[in-house]
Amino acid sequence: MSGRMKIFLQMFIMGILVFSQNNYARAGLLEDVIEGKASVIDLTYPLNEKNAHWPMSNYTPFQYEVIATIKKDKVFSGKYSTPEHLGTHIDAPNHFEQNQQSVDQIPLEQLIGPAIVMNITQKVEQNADYTLSLSDILSWEKTYGRIPEGSIVLLNTGWSRRWNNFEDYKNNDACGRMHFPGYSGEAARFLVKKRQIKGIGIDTLSGDCGLCSDFAVHHIINSAGKFILENVANLDKLSPKGATLIIAPIKIEGGSGGQCRIWAILPK
Ligand SMILES: [Zn+2]
Repeated sequence: MSGRMKIFLQMFIMGILVFSQNNYARAGLLEDVIEGKASVIDLTYPLNEKNAHWPMSNYTPFQYEVIATIKKDKVFSGKYSTPEHLGTHIDAPNHFEQNQQSVDQIPLEQLIGPAIVMNITQKVEQNADYTLSLSDILSWEKTYGRIPEGSIVLLNTGWSRRWNNFEDYKNNDACGRMHFPGYSGEAARFLVKKRQIKGIGIDTLSGDCGLCSDFAVHHIINSAGKFILENVANLDKLSPKGATLIIAPIKIEGGSGGQCRIWAILPK
C-alpha cells in the first residue's frame, strides 16, 4: 500500500471512530440510566408534618390524613394539605413579580438543565449570614470553566444538616430574626444577566439569606422570568459539575410555586 493510501485509510478510520463516539455521546442520558450506566440522585425531602415552610402565620404545616383503609374500605387512600412553599419546592416567576409565569406555565424545557454546584459550607461555618458573592462564582469558574448557558445553579451551604430540626433550620436570634445563608444580589444578577441560567436552587428556606428582608434575590430572579428551588436535599452528593437536573413541579393552575421532585442524573 502506498504511503498516501495508508494515511488516507488512517484518517478514514479515525473519522469513523470520532463519528461513533459523538454518536454514542448523543445516544442520551436517559438511555444511560436505563442501561445502568448513570445513577439518579433524589434531591427531594419526603413530605411530612415536620417539613420546613416559610414561617408566616398563615403558612400551616403539611398535613396528611388517611381517608380509607384496606381493612375497612378495601383500599388505602389519603388526603393532604400544604402551603405551596413548604419542603422541597419551586418558586415560580410570579411568586415575587406580577405578570410572570405561574408554576403551571413554566415550559418543561426550562426545568431540565446542567447542574452547577457551588459549595460555600466552610464560609457558612464561620458566618451563618454568608451570601454567595460574585467572586465566589468567578473563582468557581476559574477552576471548573465558564457556567454554560441554560444551567441550573445549586448552592450547597451545608444547611441540610439542620433539616430535621425546624428551629435549627430557621436559626432565630433573640429578636426573632432568622439567620441562614443565601445568594447575594450581585451573584443573582450576574447569573441571570451574564450567564443566562435557567434558575437557581439552595439547601435553605430561601434564595435570600435569613436576614435579607428586601428579598432582592427573589426579585432579580423572578423579574427575569426564572425560578428558585428551595430546601433542596442531597447537594453534598453532587460534583461541582457533570450532573443533569430534571425538576418536576406540581401543576397548580395559577400557583406561585409548589412541591417538586428533583432528579440529578450522574454519569457513572
Ligand atoms: Zn418558596
